[in-house]
Amino acid sequence: MDLKDLENIEHKIEEREDFSGFKVSPIEVFFPKDEEEVERIVKFAYENSIPIVPWGSGSSLTGAVSCEGCIVIDLSKMNKILEINDVDWYVRVQPGVKLIDLYEAVEAKGLFFPPDPASFFLCTVGGATSEGSGGMRGVKYGPFREWVLALKVVMPNGNIVKLGEPLRKNRAGYDLIHLLVGSEGTLGIITEIWLRLIPLPKKKIFLVISYPESIKKAGEAIIELRKAKILPEFSEYLDADVVKSMNKNLNAQLKETDGGMLMISIEDDQLQDVISIVKEKGEYKVLEGEEAERIYSLRAQAAIAVKTENSGYFYAEDIVVPVSKLPEAIERLNELGKKYGTKFYIISHIGDGNLHPNILGKNKDEVEKLFKEVAKISIDLGGSVSGEHGIGVQKAEMMRVQLFKSNGPLVLDLMMGIKRLFDPKDIMNPGKYVERAYLAGTTAASFKDSSP
Ligand SMILES: Cc1cc2nc3c(=O)[nH]c(=O)nc-3n(C[C@H](O)[C@H](O)[C@H](O)COP(=O)(O)OP(=O)(O)OC[C@H]3O[C@@H](n4cnc5c(N)ncnc54)[C@H](O)[C@@H]3O)c2cc1C
Repeated sequence: MDLKDLENIEHKIEEREDFSGFKVSPIEVFFPKDEEEVERIVKFAYENSIPIVPWGSGSSLTGAVSCEGCIVIDLSKMNKILEINDVDWYVRVQPGVKLIDLYEAVEAKGLFFPPDPASFFLCTVGGATSEGSGGMRGVKYGPFREWVLALKVVMPNGNIVKLGEPLRKNRAGYDLIHLLVGSEGTLGIITEIWLRLIPLPKKKIFLVISYPESIKKAGEAIIELRKAKILPEFSEYLDADVVKSMNKNLNAQLKETDGGMLMISIEDDQLQDVISIVKEKGEYKVLEGEEAERIYSLRAQAAIAVKTENSGYFYAEDIVVPVSKLPEAIERLNELGKKYGTKFYIISHIGDGNLHPNILGKNKDEVEKLFKEVAKISIDLGGSVSGEHGIGVQKAEMMRVQLFKSNGPLVLDLMMGIKRLFDPKDIMNPGKYVERAYLAGTTAASFKDSSP
């Protein structure tokens, strides 16, 4: 089999860049229209030991789709919603469906898919499943992991497997579904996804906008919400520099204050409880309807505004800490900012302790040094270097540090054993994530030689 045998599959040679500016220099980009074409491309790559990188929309923030000399499988043409089941409450889709299109389709049937990475207007279901993405409503509904019921996958040797059933309860064997969720394209190519749905919420929802005196006060408000057993739909924070950047680059017309903006979306029966907490932290207002929706969709574009400020390197941090440790994490971030004389442009799913300090700079070494120091804060506080964006190439070294400190030395060996089992020729998105973290600590820098 040679490349000519794949000629009737849509393809082109094209250099690409992902959202964070990582380069993608493939030998060929294929646009399969169905699973059978994916299977043929993968079998060809397997026989010829050519690396493969699956591509959703390239909104990865960690270099997870970067490559040189690989075959890119762009899944954007596999974009059909195959079934919406309004009795068993699931939707079955191809991986290239845009998340925003999925929302619209299920809502038309009175159903709801809650996970909403802020990239929902551009990212694909396959990409978000492979990243195990979180999002703004994650504080109430959790990340993708909690919503994936079953998958079809083309394995690295071209075999096709179906994992699971569209059932919430299913105890048949090891949970391979959730091994694939968050695997960042390193174990196989997802060609079909069954996602759990719930009824579209009917209760009236308000958006409380609070202008706390500082990010520290925002963190305190979140802790008080938790103590009061209040679970918002979402609770998001933008620091003062992000708000300024959104006004400048998106004409957002948001109020500028020194302490930034806290947004808490809440059902009407707990509105007064939220108000009684935020009014102690600074000014506030309550929105509903179109204005609340405008703020929600602006919030989703915050990273786009911040990226526009960038004239060098753009590293989107994604640390998560236990909510109880938020004040300490914020304090240490403030200290780091002062030490390096830098702005962090903090965007945060603050309600679940997930902070995105965005690091911009012209000097790569300095940006990377600061990036590692931020990651270290999360490890020290019993958190994680990535809450939702994943690891890719950017966070592999710090993931290794985290796993060794928090879980012990055997865990990465186990993970590497899984990678070898699925992908013995190491062709599926190689050199990233678990493999990169593993090899960061071995002198035998070869996939095949290095034994756990
Ligand atoms: C403005 C902006 C806001 C964001 N906000 C959030 C947020 O709030 N929460 C969050 O979690 N993330 C967020 N992200 C990160 C990113 O958008 C998500 O991780 C997203 O879900 C990735 O989707 P994608 O389709 O762009 O995938 P890509 O970036 O194309 O791919 C991501 C990974 O999945 C793999 N992959 C893609 N498709 C498949 C497939 N079919 N089978 C196997 N592997 C596959 C790729 O190889 C890669 O490893 C944001 C990004 C941007 C640009």
